[in-house]
Amino acid sequence: MASQKEARTPVDHVARLSGELRCQIPNEEEEREGGAAPEVATPGSEADGASADGLWKLPVEPAERRPECSRCSRPLKVCLCPFLPVHPLHISTNLYIIQHPAEESKVLRTVPLLAACLPQEKCKVKIGRRFSEERDPELTAVCQKSGTLILYPGAEATNLEEFIIDSPIYPSTIIIIDGTWSQAKDIFYKNSLFRVPKQVQLKTNISSQYVIRMQPTNNCLSTLECAAVALSILEKNNYIQEILLRPLQALCSFQLQHGAQIRLSKEHLLKSGLYPKPMPKNKRKLRKMELLMNSVKI
Ligand SMILES: [Zn+2]
Repeated sequence: MASQKEARTPVDHVARLSGELRCQIPNEEEEREGGAAPEVATPGSEADGASADGLWKLPVEPAERRPECSRCSRPLKVCLCPFLPVHPLHISTNLYIIQHPAEESKVLRTVPLLAACLPQEKCKVKIGRRFSEERDPELTAVCQKSGTLILYPGAEATNLEEFIIDSPIYPSTIIIIDGTWSQAKDIFYKNSLFRVPKQVQLKTNISSQYVIRMQPTNNCLSTLECAAVALSILEKNNYIQEILLRPLQALCSFQLQHGAQIRLSKEHLLKSGLYPKPMPKNKRKLRKMELLMNSVKI
């Protein structure tokens, strides 16, 4: 286990950092933006005593999703397109999002918003846990190009801003992993091709604006935020960050207006003594919590 790496980087940014704390976010129903919860055929007292024949007559829940906007992938009622740029942003960097399959089905996803702001050919989303030359020759070729970077914090990672100053080849592509902390780690370490590109990380003091999902530390950023910061550095244009964060701010503000609560980071809750759960018994987990509390950077 490379858990040391996790503990080492409490203030670093990884491709998606809602971490193992996802169980503490508002439940999925709460996140449906006031949409009706799916009706479950719950047999009442009559049905309890019904024969199997009677159960056949119970309504079957239709497996349908609420209609989604084709551009921002949000439910039509809460479409965020007014907060997206009219035309996709012009960028020269190629962005590859490696998305863990579990991320695709989350209600509050940031990657569709990111993709909606960028030209299709500049933002490619690859879904999966394992990638190889046979399965994805295109991605393999991208990883082997000298101008490709992968955003993943750790001892071997260079600060992106410093890297571009010294790099003889200006980066043309950046890969970001979209998943929880542990999913991102699994993808990074179990796919040898992701260790071919230069490993970089972001050193920035900005706090996540994705306040409706709990992040492990105050400085952990969502995938969209990571991409926004990385692209604005690579493109040398802060306007990119501003534009990309606009739909996220709108999403959070809408959710907060409709009953979602600000999810303070685990770091904040621990430091302020508000952490609602007992401290873990597992030594490794306890050590991680202590590191968060002290914000120790090893
Ligand atoms: Zn939309």
